[in-house]
This record gives sequence, structure tokens and C-alpha cells, in this order.
Amino acid sequence: MSTSPSLNFAVAERPDRASDADRDAVLASPGFGQHFTDHMALATWRKGEGWGDPRVTAYGPLQLDPSAAVLHYAQEIFEGMKAYRHEDGSVWTFRPEANAARFSRSAHRLALPALDEADFLESLRALVRTDVDWVPATGGEESLYLRPFMFASESFLGVRPANEVTYCVIASPAGAYFSGGLKPVSLWISEHYSRAGVGGTGAAKCGGNYASSLAAQVEAAENGCDQSVFLDSVEQKYIEELGGMNVFLVYKDGRIVTPELSGSILEGVTRSSILELAKDLDLTPEERRITLEEWRAGAESGEITEAFACGTAAVITPVGRMVSTEGEFRTGPEGEGGPVATKIRETLLAIQTGRAEDTRGWLT
Ligand code: PMP
Repeated sequence: MSTSPSLNFAVAERPDRASDADRDAVLASPGFGQHFTDHMALATWRKGEGWGDPRVTAYGPLQLDPSAAVLHYAQEIFEGMKAYRHEDGSVWTFRPEANAARFSRSAHRLALPALDEADFLESLRALVRTDVDWVPATGGEESLYLRPFMFASESFLGVRPANEVTYCVIASPAGAYFSGGLKPVSLWISEHYSRAGVGGTGAAKCGGNYASSLAAQVEAAENGCDQSVFLDSVEQKYIEELGGMNVFLVYKDGRIVTPELSGSILEGVTRSSILELAKDLDLTPEERRITLEEWRAGAESGEITEAFACGTAAVITPVGRMVSTEGEFRTGPEGEGGPVATKIRETLLAIQTGRAEDTRGWLT
């Protein structure tokens, strides 16, 4: 990765900014993914020319030809991360280099052009600097969620990598995910649908993976569950992940185990961070294959004391009930998160929000 950016995301257009009162009203209760800041960052890639026209401009609709390739063949990738405001007013992102690296890997898998990781970081910096007033005030878990994405904008019907690609970053203030304690989610064990297969795009963050998870999500809701958990697509035996989060099991003896990266699992930044932090918390991290049967038997015998999902949006979400056509079992205490999930969540959030020292250089 080169260290200096080659694209200058200068502010090209100053929109009528939201009034302070309107912005304060949104920030008082931002929800998630519903409100967007005044600006967006953009750049365009053309075959033979490379990246050009980097700019920060007014947030607003993009013009796309109805034949734009992304609308037909889903050549698209994205990222997600949060910026937190610290006590002294400064604004920090958490391990954005890891998101930049994953964006590069996703681009490669979807045959999209490489965007220099320094340029990716520069685009985030430019947008956050311009819309810094949209980063919620310090004190809680509120943050500014950053959503970089890249898609085939060429007007062309044909299955080949697009010759024109658009890169864009938008930002959305995000509220605290859990107010009043961690609430465990229930998971529907998806038997009819896989999220990703061997040699497929499961390890990339591309829109198509999320589209393919929706039918399972609908099935989960029909069965009274909050989310679905996916098994491997070959044997339908090993735990993979949720539609948008990785999974950990906590064992009585202090091991925390997460499914190894199988090629069809997304390598979460939260997952990697937990694996690194585990030793500080006297936990033994393990990455290996875990069968659904091991989970069920461990939960029933008490060997497995907690289960949790992890990802940028909620940081840590405890998992309670596990439901399938064959019945159900539960992990962890009823109605609340277990002590290990709670401790890991506290530790990560303390680093992200500046309440604990960042000894690993994770904040930018
Ligand atoms: N798996 C999937 C499928 C996801 O969409 C996400 C969210 N990006 C994660 C795992 C967790 O990744 P991260 O910790 O980087 O948010």
C-alpha cells in the first residue's frame, strides 16, 4: 500500500447545508441508515485512463442510465465503518486500513478496478472533515457510519467487467444499537438457503451476497426469529456466519471459538479485533470449523456458556435461541448478554470511543 494518496478529494460543491436545528434534531435520535450528511465523495474510473475527477460534492441522487451494468449484473462492492467523537472533540475511525484492504480484496474478486488504499483513506478523511458537524457528540455509542462503495456505472448490457466505474462515499449518523442492556437475538438455522458457496463471493463484501441472504431472512422472520445463521453450502453441517455478522462461541474453560475463514465467510474487522484482544482478557482464541451439532451439544451440556455475533453496526450481539425445523436450543442467560460478551463489547467500545488507551494503533 502506498502511503500518500494520489487523488485529491477537494470540495467541489457546497450544498445548502442542513440547518443546525435540523441536524441537531437528527442527531438527537439518528437511528441507523436513515439520515445522510450534506456531502458525498465521488471519483470515476475509466478503462485506459484510471481514476479521475475526485471530489466532495452535495449529497444527492446519482444519475444512472437504465442500462448501467450494476443494475443488471450486480458488479458492486461496499464497506462499512464508524467514526467516533472523543471527549476532546477529535474524531477517530477504527482500523480503516483493514476496511481499505478488504475493499481491495473485494474489488479484485468482483473484477472492479483497484483503488489505492491511500486514496480510499483520503476519501474518508475528506468527507468526515467536510461533514464533521454530523459526527454525534461524545459521551455514548453514537457514531458517524461511513459507507464507501464502488459500482459498474457503464451504460452497457453485456457480461464483462465494466469500462466505467463509480466510487462513492456517503455518511450516516448512527445511534446506540442497544439502549438498556444487551438483548440476545434469536437465530433461524437456514437449511434451504446458503449465503455463499465454495469459490463464490462469500469472502467479498458485495451487494449480491446480501441479496442472496434475504430469502433466509424472510424465513427467519416467518419463524419468529430475528436473523438467520448460515451453514456451509457443501455439507450443511458447519457454522459459517450471519447475514451481516461473524459468530463466536464461549467455552466454560475460557476458549472463544469462531469459524475459520473458509473462503465463504467475510473476514470481519470486529472478528479480527476480538481475536487479538482475547489474550488481554484471559481468553484463548481459536479459529476452526464448528459443527452445528457441537454448538447444540455444548449448549445443552453447559460446556458452551455464551454465543455472540459481532460486526461494526452492533459491535457485539448476544445470541440466545437457536431455532430450526428440528426444534430449538438456547445458549447463555435468558434475556441478557453473558459476562464474556459484555466484557468484550465494553473493551472494544472503550478503545473506539477513546475511553481506553489505544495501545495497538487502531485509531486513525
Ligand atoms: N459478515 C458479514 C456478512 C458482514 O456483512 C459483516 C459486516 N461488515 C460482518 C461479517 C462483520 O464485519 P465487520 O466486523 O468488519 O463489520
